[in-house]
Amino acid sequence: MALRHALAFDPIAVDDPRSDLAGTMRSFDPRSPIVQIGDLSAQRGDGVFESLGMVGRHAQEVSAHLARLAHSAALCDLPEPNLAQWREAISRVVVHAPETGESVLKLILSRGVDGAGAPTAWVTLADAPDSTAAREHGIRVVTLDRGYTADVPERAPWLLLGAKTLSYAVNMAAIREARRRGADDAVFLSSDGYVLEAPTASVILRRDGRYLTPEPAAGILHGTTQRSIFSYLGSLGVDTAYARITRDELRSADAAWVVSSIRLAAPIVQIDGEETARDAAMTASLNRYLLSPRD
Ligand code: PLP
Repeated sequence: MALRHALAFDPIAVDDPRSDLAGTMRSFDPRSPIVQIGDLSAQRGDGVFESLGMVGRHAQEVSAHLARLAHSAALCDLPEPNLAQWREAISRVVVHAPETGESVLKLILSRGVDGAGAPTAWVTLADAPDSTAAREHGIRVVTLDRGYTADVPERAPWLLLGAKTLSYAVNMAAIREARRRGADDAVFLSSDGYVLEAPTASVILRRDGRYLTPEPAAGILHGTTQRSIFSYLGSLGVDTAYARITRDELRSADAAWVVSSIRLAAPIVQIDGEETARDAAMTASLNRYLLSPRD
């Protein structure tokens, strides 16, 4: 992804009375070294992040992403983000996006430089990858065992399941494994057989006219796109629910999608080598909705 702009700042406390938030920020050429070599984000993947889709200069679902950033920070015992400061950073970066087309805004909150005891933060703007083929022709997925039962978040909260941490090496390894198996993407299953999520997306399926997605309590990220789609479907009078979903239920669904902020709704067309049912009209409707400005 070609980076267009970057801005860094020292995160301030939630009760910091400063009104000159712009004064806490520094813009950089995104090719210049912003992150110190001792930053724990680079050394340990110790931090949290968000990726927001942008349509023209409008960042989608800023409030939902900031709420999840705060949730991830809390799960990781990072200081609570000052959301006014993050909003100021976002507003200073989005103006550098092209007036039309799609971009990616990334918010990164790191535990900071080793030993300094203070978090570091930065925001980047990049051109979005072209997702047309995935949205229009769909993707082939393979199911992969994540190795945990669906109740593990309760038993082992230190695994940070449900936080969007910078440690995505496992997620990237799963995508590489999916490609080795001749697919485009993976869908994780819990070791007790329930559908969880894709490495960078949520799963939604339709059975008997009802749209279902796995429960976030099963140790998955609560997707902003999935939530936005559910509120859109609700406005159309369509029934939606969180549920425990087995691999067989996913395979025999009327239609299924992986959904995320940047790729948006990609219909699943094959699961573990078997063709699956799809709904081109609903896919087009979801992507039209997702590409409209959303707050
Ligand atoms: N699940 C995982 C593991 C993800 O990494 C992502 C997005 O990156 C999602 C789900 C979808 O989240 P969102 O719709 O907020 O992009």
